[in-house]
Amino acid sequence: MKIGVLALQGAFIEHIQCLEKLGVNGIEIRQSTDLDGLDGLILPGGESTVQGKLLHDLKMFDKIKQLISEGLPVLGTCAGLILLGANVINADSQNQNPHLGTLPVTVQRNAYGRQLGSFVHTGDVGAIETFPMEFIRAPYIKDVSNDVEILSRVDSKIVGVRYKNQIGLAFHPEMTDDLRIHKAFINLIKAS
Ligand code: GLN
Repeated sequence: MKIGVLALQGAFIEHIQCLEKLGVNGIEIRQSTDLDGLDGLILPGGESTVQGKLLHDLKMFDKIKQLISEGLPVLGTCAGLILLGANVINADSQNQNPHLGTLPVTVQRNAYGRQLGSFVHTGDVGAIETFPMEFIRAPYIKDVSNDVEILSRVDSKIVGVRYKNQIGLAFHPEMTDDLRIHKAFINLIKAS
């Protein structure tokens, strides 16, 4: 199984380490040709505005969007969730068309404020109980279309969703020792 981790910016090494611990080869995606032959893709946390711009500069944007639309399983965490979101509040207005927009949700960027935005909350993520959710300048999901499954809420705010082949999380599962979310993503790939 080949799982790509977008490696332009942000917390990609941590995702690759999680995959390695589960015996799966994580491939750093740095250019368009790296996307060939993948079974799954992880869009890591970091800075969505920078990542979106680099995806355009490196001519990877349309290819990733097409692969996801065609059913490639994708896990977007934090900035990765923002990149997937169809609508983004507080988007960077300087940046033309920065979002892939494949996930039919409205994401509020920097929803907890820029400085006070880091906290840990233990809660359920779908069938995964008491997961340590690490939030870092995190977004939350303000609205979802009807066919989006809500996996997780914190203080009534939606912070985890699944829509078909796409999982979007506002927090950072790769920052903990708990591998259950990566394991669930691998199982999703196997089932697809
Ligand atoms: N605030 C960042 C953004 O807008 C996301 C933060 C993160 O990925 N930890 O892209």
